[in-house]
Amino acid sequence: MSIADLVKPHIRDLDPYVPGKPMEELERELGISNSIKLASNENPLGPSPKAVEAMRAAAGEVHRYPDGASFALRTKLSDRLGVAENQLVFGTGGDEILELIAKTLIGPGDEVVYAWPSFAMYPIVVKGMGAEGVQVPLTDDFVHDLDAMAAAVTPKTRVVMICNPNNPSGTSVGADAFDRFVSELSDDIVLVVDEAYFEFARRDDLPDVIAWMERRPGTLALRTFSKIYGLAGIRIGYGICDSELASYLERARHPFNVNRLAEVAAVAALDDEEHVRRTIEMNSTGIDYLRSELEKLGIESWPSEANFILARTGSEVFDALLARGIIVRPMKGFGLTEHVRISVGLPEDNERLIKALGEIRGMDAAKREAGP
Ligand SMILES: *Cc1c(COP(=O)(O)O)cnc(C)c1O
Repeated sequence: MSIADLVKPHIRDLDPYVPGKPMEELERELGISNSIKLASNENPLGPSPKAVEAMRAAAGEVHRYPDGASFALRTKLSDRLGVAENQLVFGTGGDEILELIAKTLIGPGDEVVYAWPSFAMYPIVVKGMGAEGVQVPLTDDFVHDLDAMAAAVTPKTRVVMICNPNNPSGTSVGADAFDRFVSELSDDIVLVVDEAYFEFARRDDLPDVIAWMERRPGTLALRTFSKIYGLAGIRIGYGICDSELASYLERARHPFNVNRLAEVAAVAALDDEEHVRRTIEMNSTGIDYLRSELEKLGIESWPSEANFILARTGSEVFDALLARGIIVRPMKGFGLTEHVRISVGLPEDNERLIKALGEIRGMDAAKREAGP
């Protein structure tokens, strides 16, 4: 008997998610202590200080189970978003919301249409349920090809996912294109719009997904506290959707999936306007700085509405940066061997990255001149 024979084939054949390289690991390997990680789209300012304070205050209560309904967070967020309390589903990160969608809606024989490259968790949750992922290539400009996605829909399609702004390209679709796409999409398909980077977007015509929920009940927006609020380590995200769809997702979740510290942190973070304002401002400056400096270095990059940039640095740059204590995200797994994804860091991190890229480019140029 082999264990592999006991495992469901669609789980056995999954390619595990590859996270960004941990700083501790790199520092151990290089014997250094000043590495920087620009690889996982984390908030370089750290968590909301108000959230940290709230978690400290709640630490003495962790012998108690959390509030399974996340009442305090639910009421605050429903108020903030202008949706009913029963239109919200909370999860252990946005990742769990993806899992709940998959668990609730898809199985063997079903298809899920999403763009590619897009969030690396989509194939994992889709294949993890034994369903089929239909990956529609982004356009040459690395934008969602909504026409091609519409054409990829078949009678087997249960869910369509749109990541907007898209990870790892940072590109986005505007309201016009989105509204056209959705108005043509069959009502018996659930549309999931992954808005993990929603709060960072600078374009003012981002689609209004919540407004669609009344017209089209099978519409869900996914958001997270991991990115803008700097709470990636405490794992909390949520879905906003029609109350009936929400009631099914609620059935599929564990009763205490959102832990006590995560809930108090999220509530406090929502009130931390100062932290959100600083985060958005620093990110915006960082995006502009990085794109203009990359251009000066002759490195192609793509417009980003998120907190990271896709850049075509060349294939050796990932390792060369690692050797300088800088972790970015390689895009090899998407078949993009020349590209890396760079998370916006603190101003000094961004400067260090640009300086390192300049050195690496300079060395490459010198090598080319010296000949083989
Ligand atoms: C980060 C991210 C999420 C959710 O992350 P969690 O930490 O699980 O909340 C979802 N979608 C995309 C595209 C992301 O980048």
